[in-house]
Amino acid sequence: MNSPALCYFDNNATTRVAPEVVDAMLPFLREHWGNPSSTYAFGRQVGGHLDEARARVAALINAEPREIVFTSCGTESNNSAIHSALATQPDKRHVLTTAVEHSANIKYCALLQKQGCPVTFQPVEPDGLLDLQRFEQAIRPDTALVSVMWANNETGIVFPIREIAAICRRQGVLLHTDAVQAAGKLKVDVRELDVDFLSLSAHKLHAPKGIGLLYVKRRVKYQPYVIGGGQERGRRGGTENVANIVAFGRAAELAMARLPDEETRVRALRDRLEEGILGGIPGTTRNGAREPRLPNTCNIAFAGVEAEGILMLLDHAGICASSGSACTTGSLDPSHVLTAMGCSAARARGSIRFSLSIYNTEAEVDYVLKHLPGIIARLRASSPVEENIPALQ
Ligand SMILES: *Cc1c(COP(=O)(O)O)cnc(C)c1O
Repeated sequence: MNSPALCYFDNNATTRVAPEVVDAMLPFLREHWGNPSSTYAFGRQVGGHLDEARARVAALINAEPREIVFTSCGTESNNSAIHSALATQPDKRHVLTTAVEHSANIKYCALLQKQGCPVTFQPVEPDGLLDLQRFEQAIRPDTALVSVMWANNETGIVFPIREIAAICRRQGVLLHTDAVQAAGKLKVDVRELDVDFLSLSAHKLHAPKGIGLLYVKRRVKYQPYVIGGGQERGRRGGTENVANIVAFGRAAELAMARLPDEETRVRALRDRLEEGILGGIPGTTRNGAREPRLPNTCNIAFAGVEAEGILMLLDHAGICASSGSACTTGSLDPSHVLTAMGCSAARARGSIRFSLSIYNTEAEVDYVLKHLPGIIARLRASSPVEENIPALQ
């Protein structure tokens, strides 16, 4: 088998910018570079394209265009939602989130905690799911916001946001969901879900890095996080990143059209990869429940080996994968997500995430399946004997 030039299995970290998206954005770098807030036609014209892009991203999540606030990234969207919920309800200080959120939430909430806001990082079960009864009990009279991710970037585990939204309605608490990993992989309908805030990031959807959005439900009070000009109807200061917003709009359109492909072809490829690894390499186990899970993600623990070594040898074979989140890679700390699921530090350190996209092929999956068993065998042969035993807890 010829080795593919680049076998990219790290789509939860970032995605290839779709060629159609590049085509859509280039005119806004080359020709239409005016400021959409300007009064003359050269600037104003750009504003029309912004409106169009806003309508397209709104359609992706079944929102109204005016409920969309463009931000610089998913991180800013998450920070902004939490900031706003606290700023608009000065008598409520508590935030309820989970122990497995993206660091964009975990670290922001840890800072709030230092500043005196009580935060609950709700634990998860060993399969990565939440006990909803216990979750509801964690809501307090002073809870300003519940912030729960929709799909986990490390394990792909999908939380029941609709049920969580129903709990929040019953308790009269605002709900934010980080849907960065859900968009393009699951149907996202904010009307059906009934959430107050929802975050997306374009670079997880085959658009460029540096553009995200926060959905703010109509009539939900909002206080900006980035303060400056009156852009985004006063909800986010800063001259609009026009080319990236146009790109986001085009990517949203493509994502809607390609959703069935994610559900079928990508899922089948992921299953082929996962079953190939679990069935072909001894001492391997999936981290987290099989379902409900994103169709593109698989996270596997390899007994007796360090993820770092696996990733290095995969890299030599031209295969990109990751251990946990790209944001925490490089640190020696085991993944906070796997740790929260009760994995031992050794198991967490021996875990690898493969995340696929519509651009992956069967040949690429087979290429990984061909190389991985030898890589694991090599690493196990060179590791201490007691860690050699393929036993996992
Ligand atoms: C990537 C990611 C983010 C952060 O998005 P950026 O645009 O990179 O800031 C937030 N949450 C989840 C679940 C993610 O996967």
